[in-house]
Amino acid sequence: MALHRKIDDGGDRNEVDVNPVYVQLARERVPRRTMPQRGMLPDTALQVVRDELILDGNARLNLATFVTTWMEPQARRLMAECLDKNMIDKDEYPQTAELESRCVNILADLWHAPAGSATGCSTTGSSEACMLGGMALLWRWRQRRQAAGAGVGQPNLVMGSNVQVCWEKFCRYWQVEPRMVPMEPGRLHLRGPQAAAQCDENTIGVVAILGSTMDGSYEPVGEISGELDLLAGRGGPDVPIHVDAASGGFIAPFLQPQLVWDFQVPRVASINASGHKYGLVYPGVGWVVWRAAAALPEDLVFKVNYLGGEMPTFALNFSRSGSNVAAQYYNFLRLGFEGYRRVQQACQDVALHMSGQIARMGPFELLSDGSELPVFAFRISDESAGYTVFDLSEVLRERGWLVPAYTFPANLQDTAVLRVVVRNGFGMNLADAFLADLRRYSRTLAAHPHSHMPLAPESVRHGFAH
Ligand SMILES: *Cc1c(COP(=O)(O)O)cnc(C)c1O
Repeated sequence: MALHRKIDDGGDRNEVDVNPVYVQLARERVPRRTMPQRGMLPDTALQVVRDELILDGNARLNLATFVTTWMEPQARRLMAECLDKNMIDKDEYPQTAELESRCVNILADLWHAPAGSATGCSTTGSSEACMLGGMALLWRWRQRRQAAGAGVGQPNLVMGSNVQVCWEKFCRYWQVEPRMVPMEPGRLHLRGPQAAAQCDENTIGVVAILGSTMDGSYEPVGEISGELDLLAGRGGPDVPIHVDAASGGFIAPFLQPQLVWDFQVPRVASINASGHKYGLVYPGVGWVVWRAAAALPEDLVFKVNYLGGEMPTFALNFSRSGSNVAAQYYNFLRLGFEGYRRVQQACQDVALHMSGQIARMGPFELLSDGSELPVFAFRISDESAGYTVFDLSEVLRERGWLVPAYTFPANLQDTAVLRVVVRNGFGMNLADAFLADLRRYSRTLAAHPHSHMPLAPESVRHGFAH
């Protein structure tokens, strides 16, 4: 989470008045950064906190985030009912543990895990899921090396420079060398030959992304696996793949059922996905599944017994509410395969409609069109347009649209794009309203290129990594 610093301003801006309509006393004050001496009535506290939060953005107009911003009232009710169940306490809440187990089974089935011993768990999101997947790769590599009497000093992980920040975290925290294959003009993600070329006997695995947070494109898991097969066939290292399917794990099974990216590829050892992205659950819940128990080293698994009973667990945190897992199971039950397919297809229809219109709009060029994830990125191709994607992102904010502008990672740092993520609830009406605003604002900016203050792009650039 964001790091926050203690503010020492002598307290002169610490206290504010509560709206007099909410209070009985003539005047009631709330200290902002120290705990109040006395409490207040629940409705007063509720009003005060709500008033603060109206400054947050309107989630439905947020085209930046991949994360669920709307669930049905029935799902909200279920979540409220489950907030007090501690996920880790499998003995007191065996039925919540049972629902988690069913979700793992449903996902393992959706991702074509071979019959036998697929194993998985829920997490707080894909970041934790990736951390667990990466740890399993690291531990297994160490076991292989130790068994061969080789050194375990310099592990590396191969991935594209377009990976989500969680993989950089994994490498930093576990002291694994990140081997990032840079993007090139015309290649916006990792491909097979480039991945295999980076692998050596110290490679713990290759991360393939389905799909890229940068532009929504899928990395070719089959091609990457094929190149790694050739490498192993030549007597090179036998490198496993982890698929980071944070978004695609809940899209590809429904929209691209013919695509072979999951456990059908024998080299794929583990897969993660975010339940709170296209899994359609409020944050935060993620999932990770290993092809077989053998892909998950025993000494990473802890058996906790002091809550009564004994349950194997693999997680970074301990206590967590059971409400997201119940909500995930609710969605599976409520929508079924056909329901998920229709929801995701509706997103894709809107994404393709929008990208098609934008491609015809003039100064824009698509870098992806939403035909893989319902996500697309576009840039200003006309050098003489007189404004940048950062200017556009800023003016669109005036109407409430949150559309992040950012530069691509190495080696395409000169390419600046806008990205649109279409989620459930963003229908054709909103899409057309957005397109009208985009058309209007780009015309205005072109006519008055200097009317808008250049903004500090840093604040916007880092908005993409949701
Ligand atoms: C969003 C995302 C993550 C991080 O997922 P959280 O669920 O937000 O922790 C990791 N990888 C990819 C490809 C993502 O899109």
